[in-house]
Amino acid sequence: MSNVRVRFAPSPTGALHIGGVRTALYNYLLARQLGGTFILRIEDTDQNRYVPGAEDYIKEALAWCGLTIDEGTEQGGDYGPYRQSDRKAIYLEHAQKLIDNGTAYYAFDTPEELDARRETEKEAGNHNFRYDAASRSSMRNSESLSSKEVAQLLAANTPYTIRLKVPTDEIVKVTDLVRGDVQFQSKELDDKILLKTDGMPTYHLANIVDDHLMKITHVIRGEEWLPSTAHHVLLYRAFGWEDTMPAFAHLPLILKPTGKGKLSKRDGVKLGIPVFPLAWKGATEEESFTGFREFGFDPRAMVNFMALLGWNPGTEQELFSLEELIKAFSIEKIGKAGARFDFDKAKWFNQQYIMQSSDEDLITIIKPMLAEKGITKDDAFLTTFVQLMKERVVVYGDFWDSGYYFFTDVTAYDEKNIRKKWKPENQALFEDLRQQLKALNSPDEAAVETTVKSFMEANGLGFGAVLPILRIGVTGTMKGPSIFAVMALLGTEEVDRRLEAAYAAFNAIKNG
Ligand code: GLU
Repeated sequence: MSNVRVRFAPSPTGALHIGGVRTALYNYLLARQLGGTFILRIEDTDQNRYVPGAEDYIKEALAWCGLTIDEGTEQGGDYGPYRQSDRKAIYLEHAQKLIDNGTAYYAFDTPEELDARRETEKEAGNHNFRYDAASRSSMRNSESLSSKEVAQLLAANTPYTIRLKVPTDEIVKVTDLVRGDVQFQSKELDDKILLKTDGMPTYHLANIVDDHLMKITHVIRGEEWLPSTAHHVLLYRAFGWEDTMPAFAHLPLILKPTGKGKLSKRDGVKLGIPVFPLAWKGATEEESFTGFREFGFDPRAMVNFMALLGWNPGTEQELFSLEELIKAFSIEKIGKAGARFDFDKAKWFNQQYIMQSSDEDLITIIKPMLAEKGITKDDAFLTTFVQLMKERVVVYGDFWDSGYYFFTDVTAYDEKNIRKKWKPENQALFEDLRQQLKALNSPDEAAVETTVKSFMEANGLGFGAVLPILRIGVTGTMKGPSIFAVMALLGTEEVDRRLEAAYAAFNAIKNG
């Protein structure tokens, strides 16, 4: 195993957005390609944003996508614990190190004092008050107070936060593997809180300490974290860990299907498309949504689709198995520009995967869907069914939605076409055809076809006069696979029953 170590570090604040799954995927691909280690670290230090069930959701989503974790809360590993709320003592100890080496300080300002200061600043026309190198000396902290005062405050157990002492005016540089050299002015940066009054670390402290202790070599994460990287670089420096600082790669935004603006979590509900891998059962209906899985996607299709949201192989190839992605992936080919979330493309991928799936695999997926409706069918029937349908479906649910008539009576006839095609004066002829078909003994597709064609010839009727009647009579619709094949699969008894009912219904439609 190489020393490459990457982590996916979600905060369990809700369902995992497609952007989060993509981050996990890219980390996974790099780890697998380089023979490294893929770590799942749960960043749950913000108790206010903690959402019960989110951690399980994240794990289930990764498992569904086939992204196996090497080290994590379930897998264990040499660098645990992997849940930040179980590492409180480590952060405390590290915050103390920064106090001791003078790169961080105690801040005693109460929330009321901070509010009051913000108000005064506002009145003076400064709407963006910041606790930073410029204001630090006028606040109550271990930089502005005497050491005696500080000692007294600490002895009296005065609540405090620990803040990072950001340099007054210098350029902080970071080389991002996607964006190249990025620079930040330290005078624009606030003195970030590292440890809160309750002794819990903020994201920044916990993230850097853990990346260091867990020997992370590459930080691959969403673009929204790029601004924080300035503070992260300063933290590595403060700890004296610059030499082992991981490489950073910030992934481009995922844009709305229109290409305008960031794809938001609410876009899914608004547009009726999934933007999460799995469904989420929220407290209210608005908080609930369905995912790619429930939409009827094959996880391989979703992974393939996601891989190309921000990365391109540099070739025309679009279909990639996970194994192929592992081989082809490279950070250099991650784009800077936002990637458009094109749901039609996602569906196209799914169609390709369904077409490529073996009959056995499709049957395994279809059986439980049928069982839920109380339907069981033998494998021979289901094999023919999937062979007839697999080129015609986009998502798994289409097997039922477009092919329910293989399993149950037709629920609605295409009335528009029936009005055009059904000639009551021909009913006697069609009754005759029904009898001829009934007389066939377990016919195959060819036998049905021969019978229908000779009936057409004998009566001087063309395809357009006969096939729509059979098609709509047996399946309700004009769309679908070869009607001869459908009839052969349904069997003579069933077809006979359906045609008898259909002719009656057709007359009613005509008269209605
Ligand atoms: N906990 C952060 C998140 O929720 C991790 C960001 C990072 O990868 O550093 O995305």
